[in-house]
Amino acid sequence: MSDPKEPKVNERMEKIVSLCKRRGFVFQSSEIYGGINGFWDYGPLGAELKRNVKDAWWRSMTQQRDDIVGLDASIIMHPKIWEASGHTSTFSDPMVDCLLTKKRFRADQVDPQSGTAYFYTGATAGGKTCNEPYSVLVPPGKPAESARKIACQFYTARGLENPELQGERSEVTKDSTRYNPENGSLLTDPRPFNLMFKTYVGPVESQDNVAYLRPETAQAIFAQFKNVLEVSRQKPPFGICQIGKAFRNEINPRNFTFRSREFEQMELEFFIKPDEVAKASPASTEPIAEGQPQPQWGWKEWHQYWVDERVRWYESIGLSRNTLEFYWQKPEELAHYAKATVDILYQFPFGTQELEGIAARGDFDLTQHQKFSGKPMEYFDEETKARFVPHVIEPSAGVDRLVLALICNAFQEETVTDEKGKTEVRTVMKFHPRIAPIKVGVFPLLKNRPELVKKALEVRDLLRPHMSVFYDEAGAIGRRYRRQDEAGTPFGVTIDFDTLGEKPELLNTVTLRERDTMKQTRVTIEELVPLLVSKIR
Ligand code: ATP
Repeated sequence: MSDPKEPKVNERMEKIVSLCKRRGFVFQSSEIYGGINGFWDYGPLGAELKRNVKDAWWRSMTQQRDDIVGLDASIIMHPKIWEASGHTSTFSDPMVDCLLTKKRFRADQVDPQSGTAYFYTGATAGGKTCNEPYSVLVPPGKPAESARKIACQFYTARGLENPELQGERSEVTKDSTRYNPENGSLLTDPRPFNLMFKTYVGPVESQDNVAYLRPETAQAIFAQFKNVLEVSRQKPPFGICQIGKAFRNEINPRNFTFRSREFEQMELEFFIKPDEVAKASPASTEPIAEGQPQPQWGWKEWHQYWVDERVRWYESIGLSRNTLEFYWQKPEELAHYAKATVDILYQFPFGTQELEGIAARGDFDLTQHQKFSGKPMEYFDEETKARFVPHVIEPSAGVDRLVLALICNAFQEETVTDEKGKTEVRTVMKFHPRIAPIKVGVFPLLKNRPELVKKALEVRDLLRPHMSVFYDEAGAIGRRYRRQDEAGTPFGVTIDFDTLGEKPELLNTVTLRERDTMKQTRVTIEELVPLLVSKIR
C-alpha cells in the first residue's frame, strides 16, 4: 500500500511542472499564442542545465577517450537516406481516430475498456438513411440510453436530423481498445502514420523536392562514415558521436517534455569488427585490465561494455543506479536486423520510462547505405587482411528526457526549522554540481553597505572565469539562499563584516554554504577557486 504521506504521483509532477515554469527551466513554446502541442522552450536555468548535460556527454565521449570522434551534420539530408534506413516505408505508429470527435490516438496507447457495447446497423431520419454501422461502449451499470445519445450525435454528424437508430444489439465486452476511453465512441481501424515531418527544398513544392526533418541523428553518422574514417585515422573498433535536434510528428505528445515533437538526441555509433574478424585479431602486446576493451571482443562484449559505460555516466551526473531500470527487448520485439537492445529506464513520477536505448544493430545500416548509394562502406583490416562492413553498437539517448529525469530526480521538499524555531517547507533542486545551471551564488550580507558590495563584486569577478556565478544583493540573506536552493545552485558565498576584517583573524574569509546540508563553513577567498572547481568538475 502506498504511504499516505507520499504525495500522489500527479501532484508531484504538477509541482515539478509549475516550478519549471516559475523558475524558468521550461516554458510552453509559443505560450502567448496559446502554445503548440509537443514543443517546449528552455528558459534561462533550463538552457544552462541542458547545455551542461550535453557538454558532459560530449566530453565523456570525445575528450576523455581517443577512440571516438564527433560529427555535426545537417538536419535536412538527401531523402534517399530515409529510404535506405527504412524510415520512409516503416517509421510509423498505428493511429486510430475517434469516429465522433476525430481525436487521434496511438492505437497501442488506448487504455482497454470494459462494459456493454451497443451496435447499430445505421439510422434513418425524414426519409434519409445512413447505413454506416457504428457502436458505443458504455461502462458497466450505465443505461442503454447513454449509448443511444452518443450514437445519435454520430448519425447527426452524418447529416441526419433527429435520427432514429436501427438494429440495436448489445454485447458484454472486456478489455477492448476499439473505443475512445473519453466518450465510448467507436474508433477507426488502425492505420500507419509516418512520423517524419515533410518539407520542400527549393522554391517549387513538388513531389521531387520533398525532404524530411531528420527523425534521428544516427543516419548522418552512417552516411558520413567513410569521410570520417578517412580523416580521423581511426580504425574499428571506433565511434562517431553526434548531438542534435530530431523531429517526430508524435501522435500524442505527453508527459511534459518526455514525448515531444522536436527534441534533441545524443547518439553514438560504435563501429566494431564482425565477430569472426575480431576473434582472428592478434592479442594485444600489452596486458589489458579486465573489463577494458580487448581486441577479440565480439558484439556481445561490446554491447555489455556500452551498457555499463552509459550507466556509469548517468551516475556521474547524479542519477544513481537505483533510480534506473533495464529492459532487454524480447526476441519478438527486436527490429529484424537487431541482435539485442537494452533500454535504460528512469523511474519518472508518471511511470518508469525509457531514457536511452542501446542496440546492437549488426551491419544493417552501412550495408543499406552501400546498397542505396552504390558507394562501398567496407573497411580493409591490415592486421587480419579481412575486408568487411563494420557492425555497430548504438547507444542513443534523448537530451530532453534526461533533463526531465534530472529535474524530477533533483526536486525535493524538505521541512526545515529556522533560528527562531519556525518550520517551513524548503524546495530544493539537488542537482549534481557538475550539471547544476548555476554553480555558486555570491551575496553581500547587506546591499546598502558599499564596502560589502564592493568586496562581493570582487569575489564574483574572481569566480566568473571558472564557473557560472549568480550575484544577488536583493532581500534578506535567508530568502536569497532559498531562491538559489530552488534554482539548484550547490554553493553560496556570503561576504560579511568579518570578510572586511571586523574580526581581524577572519579578514578575507567568507561563508561558504552548501545547498544540500545547509552547512556553513568559513573559508578564505584565496581557497575559493580551487575548492569550488574541484567540486564542480
Ligand atoms: P519511444 O518508444 O519512447 O517512442 P523510441 O524507442 O522510438 O522511443 P528511439 O528511436 O530509440 O526511441 O530514440 C532514442 C532516444 O531518443 C529515446 O531513448 C529517447 O530518449 C529519445 N526520444 C525518442 N523520441 C522522443 C520524443 N518524441 N521526445 C523526446 N525524446 C525522444
